[in-house]
Parts: sequence; structure tokens; C-alpha cells
Amino acid sequence: MLDDRQRALATVDLSAVRHNIAHLVALLPAGAALCAVVKANGYGHGAVPIARAALQAGALWLGVATVAEVEELREAAITAPVLIFGPLTGVEVARAAKARAEVAVWSEAFLAEALRRGARVHVKYNSGMGRLGVDEGAAAALCAAAAPSSALAGLMSHFATADQDDPTFFSTQLERFTALAGQLKARYTGLAAHIANSAATMREPAAHFDMVRTGIAIYGLSPFGDDPEPRGLRPALRLSSYVAGIREVGPGESVGYGRRFVADRAARLAIVPIGYADGVSRALTNRGEVLIAGRRCPIAGTISMDQLTVLLPEDPGAVRPGDEVVFIGRSGAERILAEDVARQLDTINYEIACDVSPRVVRRYRESPESPESPETADSA
Ligand SMILES: *Cc1c(COP(=O)(O)O)cnc(C)c1O
Repeated sequence: MLDDRQRALATVDLSAVRHNIAHLVALLPAGAALCAVVKANGYGHGAVPIARAALQAGALWLGVATVAEVEELREAAITAPVLIFGPLTGVEVARAAKARAEVAVWSEAFLAEALRRGARVHVKYNSGMGRLGVDEGAAAALCAAAAPSSALAGLMSHFATADQDDPTFFSTQLERFTALAGQLKARYTGLAAHIANSAATMREPAAHFDMVRTGIAIYGLSPFGDDPEPRGLRPALRLSSYVAGIREVGPGESVGYGRRFVADRAARLAIVPIGYADGVSRALTNRGEVLIAGRRCPIAGTISMDQLTVLLPEDPGAVRPGDEVVFIGRSGAERILAEDVARQLDTINYEIACDVSPRVVRRYRESPESPESPETADSA
């Protein structure tokens, strides 16, 4: 009966990803490229299938944070241009060049290493994020040093507050970048300027330049932490498990570590084989909610590494063993968004998606409304 159940299953709707990419591409001026950011295993969704779907739907570039991430894409025979955002060691630059990845640079020593290895570079200007990156003068000097060997590919920066209501600092960063990009693009033909993440791409056309680097929005998650659907995005991720067993408890009986749920009356509990090692945060102990058969049910007691328990509705027929338990996604008329879980945990939807751990089986599907034929494949 339970043959097709997975204890922890992430179902990823690739037609939703293609829809989101197309939606974002439609915002861009002609000639501007979309770089689909697939770092951190595609924000937990699976880097390779997401990269393929994104490229099919009009993304021209892929963005990652580490050299292992570009190697994974190359091993899957993905040949699109890839930019690595993060800092790299000397050994990693050599691997990046071998994988034909372009790299971000913000020091002369690192630029020399990248040039020696034959990697193309994007000079990282600190317009206000205040992490890595250099000021206007040093950025111009790095461009001048990279240009003679034709290694100079881009000028990049990153917004610190694109998701926030107050536009003041966002505007300051945009003005700084616009000035420097204008100056350097006039000097170096073909230099690609890029600064926009998802939030900036969606809120400010003046931030698009030659490329946008969109991550969160391609997964159908809102960069603003609100409901993504009114913004034209379709969430791709569904996280689910199933009812492995039902236990009847009487008043005074407890369940789980630390006895943090004690029944105050006769109650029915579902045992669900998913836990914090799968990405259901232990901080949802006695707080979180799940959907079963279209009903909202509270998580009862401590979330363990591999299991948790849910308090079931009083009517005995409402839930049966084997029923699907939804942590993120729809069930009947009910819906739990990654944004809802994030709010409960005082974090952001990015973290909720990234937390879906490697042992969760990923299953890829096409949504019913999509014209493409369904395809499914499981991978751990
Ligand atoms: C992660 C990242 C992005 C994508 O940001 P989203 O908010 O997910 O769109 C873009 N640029 C850089 C440099 C990043 O590290």
C-alpha cells in the first residue's frame, strides 16, 4: 500500500521554474541576460535539473558560489557560461579555469592568479554590501590590469537592501554602480555590468544593466518574504512525508523526547517519518503545522532527527495511515508557503529551502497545467 511513499520527499515542479524564468526574462530589456543562480544545490531544489530547466526557459548564464558547484554542472554536461561569486583559493581558481567558469575578482593577487590560469574575470565593486569587493579606484585599476589579456568580462556588485521597503540605501548603491559602470563600459567595449538580485530585478528596471543574477525568484519564492503568487511567481517546491502510524493516547500520556506534548484528553497522533535531519527545523517543536487530507494539523511534541508527531483532528476517519503529510505546498484548499514557515522561525524563505537536506529524495515533475509531457525521476 505504501510502495510509492517516500519518508521525506521534495517534489520540484520544473514547469514552475520555467514559468518563473520566463516571467523574469520578460521584465528585462532586449539584450540583457538572466543568470539563474543555482548555488547551494539550487537553493535545495537540485542544481542540475534546475539549471537545465532555467536554460530551456531562457536563462543564458548560471551562477554558483563554489568551484565544486560548477564542476557538478559540467559533469552533467551543462555547457552554459557559469560565474562563481565566492572567494576561491589558488587551487580552486585552477579548477574553476579547467571547468571554464568565470570568476569574481577583488584583489591584484587574485587577479594575477586568475590570469595565470586563463580564467575570465568579473571585477567585484563594493557599492555598499560591505563584504568582499573594492572601491571605485581599485575596481578601475583591476579592470585596467585585466583588459589587455582579454580576460575582463564584467563589473559586478551586490545590493544589501533590495528586499527592504526603505529605498534610500538601495538608491545610493544603484547610483554608485550606475556611475562606475557608465565610466568603465565607455572604456572597455563588451564589459558586462551586473548588480541585480531577484528583489532588484523585480522592483527596479534601472538595475538590470547587461545581466541580472536571480536566485530566489526562479524557485517561485518571494524575495520580499510575502506571498509569491500575486507577484507572478509559482513556488516549485513541495516538501512532504506520510502518516506511518496512528497512536491513540489518553489524558496524561506523552509523546517524544522530553515529554513536551502531554495529552490533556483522549487524542490521536500521527507518527510522521521526517525530522530535523531532513530540514524540518526542531524549532517547530509544538509550533509548526502540516496539512493532511486538506486539514491543518499542529505538530505535537519534540521534533526528532528522523520523526515527528502530529495531533490529528477529532473525527476518526479524517486521516488514515499512508496519507500524505505536507510541510510546504498545497493540500485541498489549504496551502503552506516556505514564507509562512520562515516567518514562524524568524528567518527567510531562502533558509527554509536550503535546509532541505541531501537525504530527502528529490522528485521532478511537470505541473498539470503545463503543455510539456510529464517526466519524473527520483534522486537522493
Ligand atoms: C546568491 C546571490 C544572488 C542571488 O540572490 P537572490 O536574492 O536569491 O536573487 C545574486 N548575486 C550574488 C552575488 C549572490 O551571492
